[in-house]
Amino acid sequence: MKFILGLLILSCITLTSSCMKGESVDLVIHNARIHTLNGLDKIEDAIAIRDGQIVEVGPERQILNKYSANEYIDAEQKHIYPGFTDAHGHLMAYARQKLSVNLVGCRSYDELIVRVQKYKAKNKADFILGSGWDQTLWDEEEFPTNTQLNEEFPNISVALVRVDGHSMLVNDHLLKSSNVIQLVESSPEEYDGGYFIYSDDSIPTGMIIDNAMNPIFELAPEFSKKKLTNAIKEIQNELFSYGITGVHEAGIENKDLGLFQSWVTKDILDLNIYGMLKPSEENIAFARKEGIYENENLSIRSFKVFADGALGSRGAFLKAPYSDQPNKSGHLTLPFEEIDRIAKICEEVGYQMNTHSIGDSTNRLMLDLYKRVFKTNPDHRWRIEHAQVIDIEDLGALAAAGAFPSIQPTHAVTDHPWVLKRIGPERMKGAYAYQAILEEFGIVAIGSDFPFDQLDPFKTIHAATNRLDWEGRPSGGFLPEQKISLDDCIKGMTLWASMAAFQENQLGTIEEGKDATIVIFENPIASYSKFKNNFANTVFIKGKKVYSVE
Ligand SMILES: [Zn+2]
Repeated sequence: MKFILGLLILSCITLTSSCMKGESVDLVIHNARIHTLNGLDKIEDAIAIRDGQIVEVGPERQILNKYSANEYIDAEQKHIYPGFTDAHGHLMAYARQKLSVNLVGCRSYDELIVRVQKYKAKNKADFILGSGWDQTLWDEEEFPTNTQLNEEFPNISVALVRVDGHSMLVNDHLLKSSNVIQLVESSPEEYDGGYFIYSDDSIPTGMIIDNAMNPIFELAPEFSKKKLTNAIKEIQNELFSYGITGVHEAGIENKDLGLFQSWVTKDILDLNIYGMLKPSEENIAFARKEGIYENENLSIRSFKVFADGALGSRGAFLKAPYSDQPNKSGHLTLPFEEIDRIAKICEEVGYQMNTHSIGDSTNRLMLDLYKRVFKTNPDHRWRIEHAQVIDIEDLGALAAAGAFPSIQPTHAVTDHPWVLKRIGPERMKGAYAYQAILEEFGIVAIGSDFPFDQLDPFKTIHAATNRLDWEGRPSGGFLPEQKISLDDCIKGMTLWASMAAFQENQLGTIEEGKDATIVIFENPIASYSKFKNNFANTVFIKGKKVYSVE
């Protein structure tokens, strides 16, 4: 009897200790409000993580009893969501912008000059690059001329890129010393899809649009690898502070490909990077050699094609002339034969084609092209980046072409002060028509287009759900019938963004088997009638803590 009793006690102890010990995992986060976004609308309390992946999400006791973790984090009832993906951003442009003159938010031409002078005083440079100015903030509708720039900077080269990245103001010293005008005008076919603006007496004003900027960029000095690396680290930290764990980099130059490769290999970049290559001959050779390229957290299987310009510089290609400039309809920045050639290369190497397509004419052309590819590959997921002005007659073609819309809600509220005058009331019906696009296609990928618009995802949410900017303009919301719901907006920045990158099996929801790429936020993600800040408290990428406010 004693023996049997002893056995019983022993087996109980073994059982209890194995229950106590549980299945071992690396990390348990508990006492949380976990928004799994798995479609079940249920908020869970705790999550177990092992080898960078989610093992289980469930009620507090269930997870704490079942698992034994190396580390426990008490989330103190804070809200956890899948990390945000910015489905359209420009890390390299932002890094270079940080290293050059920052002209974002300049309230006058004079302020722009002062910022360039300050930069000049600090940096010994004979070529100054700046970016981010927007003349509409100076109450100027038309582009500036370089007269003042020439007076202040007669002996060094200055090139200042406009906020949308589709035009720049350069001084005469640069125009003359580099013979850029002659270069462009002697080889017009190469710089087709771009132009100079001349004054009434045929003198260049210093304003250059789209492809005609290319020779200037070629002349601009490059920043050292060390400087770029430091800038990218700073940017990554800023992204983490907003809960952004992934970026679809919309256009990688061949010279930057090696930087991305070395940053992911050396663990300098933890962000999930979905890289779209610019279709240069070197990048095409890379795609042919590598095919679908996966290296740590860098995934490359797409080309970014610029098909037209922007509305701000009247470079977006419209079916009919601009309402405020009846002799201009914009332009394709590549001949259509070239766009078609890249499409065929994408089909050949199994890459996705992501086309910057803003004007209604460009959107129509791309929908026709995508429709052709859809016939043989119905899951191509080729993307329309921006989809800013679509003829409402063409909206129905989105689904028929399988054209995955990639939208940037902040553009709607940034452009609202001038866009009606530019394209007229008829075309406004299909402009920034995000709800209509969503109804047609069912899903959208959402991004910010940083640094050409606000990087803060909560500003994106505010713009998408209220059609207001962060200062509450315009009252009542811009084209308010195109508001999208908060749920759809969050999906556009998580699950749907991951689908736009073929990554929905790893990312986008908090579910067993997916990457533990999750964010503890200070406040729940919500939409308020007045803009409210929100920030990440702690960020995990594949289970690794990459950011914490402490
Ligand atoms: Zn962009």
